[in-house]
Amino acid sequence: MDSPEQKMQFLFALRSKGVRDKRTLEAMEAIDRGPFVRGIFTNRAYEDMPLPIACGQTISQPSVVGLMTQALDVKPRDKVLEVGTGSGYQAAILSQLARRVYTVERHRRLVNEARAIFDELNLTNITAMIGDGSHGLPDQAPFDRIIVTAAAEDPPGPLLAQLRVGGIMVVPVGQSDAVQSLIKVVRTETGYEYDELRPVRFVPLLEGLGQE
Ligand code: SAH
Repeated sequence: MDSPEQKMQFLFALRSKGVRDKRTLEAMEAIDRGPFVRGIFTNRAYEDMPLPIACGQTISQPSVVGLMTQALDVKPRDKVLEVGTGSGYQAAILSQLARRVYTVERHRRLVNEARAIFDELNLTNITAMIGDGSHGLPDQAPFDRIIVTAAAEDPPGPLLAQLRVGGIMVVPVGQSDAVQSLIKVVRTETGYEYDELRPVRFVPLLEGLGQE
């Protein structure tokens, strides 16, 4: 974000769409979206729009990243799991707020590209892994926070199981070709509480590994 005007406009758009949490805004000010957007779309990195990335996927709209981050209410000691690394932008923002971020992506190419940016920005508390994130990461569980950035028809069972008691999960739920609902799940001593936050649109959570 070269110019101060660009930065101000970017942050203004976030605020006007309801991103009010101070730590979330600070993290989004610190992490430049530019490096996560490639090719012909680089000059649109600071617009509040989802944009295409490699492997037919998308980098989410900044205000949606902000609202999801805010809903996740990450604390400085938290261990966070993200399913759907994509460009790595959401993981980079979480890295500013959490102790440790694990992010899983089914496309090898996206993981490699995201890792290169994390290295360049010296974001050493992110571990990016290739895999089907709908199974979670049993070896690292339980997680304080889980964020899913692809739409599932239901919150995946293994992810619910890997959330610690008191933990929060944010996940878009619904059919991939329709408007989905962003759901916040809180794990309690006795079960799970579900809260519907807002309509969203994400690429689908798919099984297995991607082609490239
Ligand atoms: N969080 C990303 C946006 C992700 S788009 C960002 O900040 O840019 C959703 C991503 O989820 C896509 O890259 C897609 O390949 C990935 N995805 C879909 N199903 C998955 C699965 N089962 N496991 C891991 N990643 C998955």
